[in-house]
Parts: sequence; C-alpha cells; structure tokens
Amino acid sequence: MFCPNCRYEYKPGIEQCPDCGADLVKKLDEPKLAVEKESKFVFLCVAQDLVSATLIKETLEFNDIPCLVKSAGGIMATLEPLSGQAEIYVPEEKYEESRKIKEQLVNGL
Ligand SMILES: [Zn+2]
Repeated sequence: MFCPNCRYEYKPGIEQCPDCGADLVKKLDEPKLAVEKESKFVFLCVAQDLVSATLIKETLEFNDIPCLVKSAGGIMATLEPLSGQAEIYVPEEKYEESRKIKEQLVNGL
C-alpha cells in the first residue's frame, strides 16, 4: 500500500497514511513522463490503398501526430512493401485531432 501524497510504501492492512492521513492506494500512478512516452495507440481508420495510407500518414505527421500503419504483415517502418488495405493508428490523446484531419482529407478527395 502506498500514500499518493508522500509516495511512501506501507504494510498491507494499513488504510491511511500516518503522516498525512490520505487514503492509501495499492499502486502509485506512473510518473507523467513515462505515461506520455508510452502513449497508447488507437485505431483511426482503414486506408483502402497505398496512396490513401501515404496521404493520411504524411498529413498526420505534418500536423505533429505520430502514426502507425499496419497491414497484414504487421507494423511497418516504411510504406514500401504495402499493398492492399492498411490500418492507421494514432496516439489516444491525439485521436480527436487526427479524426478531424482525416475527415478533412476524405472530404477533399
Ligand atoms: Zn502521506
């Protein structure tokens, strides 16, 4: 058990921090930096072909949104070997922004 304020560890069975009186928690939150570093990627859309996938990827990256492109072969570093459909993934916290960018793109096509 941990105190969320003092970040001290206490024995199981103790419910409140003897120092500050806060309710103890089972796990401390990860430091913020680590959470941002490992941002969770969520599914954005399916690109029907290489051209669309490239266009979406480049537009997202132009807007400072890192994205993952997955095909049947898994996550790719580059788009070179891609044929057929590809799935685009973006960081969870950038999802709304990405969705708007993608919709603008689709409307413009
Ligand atoms: Zn405390």
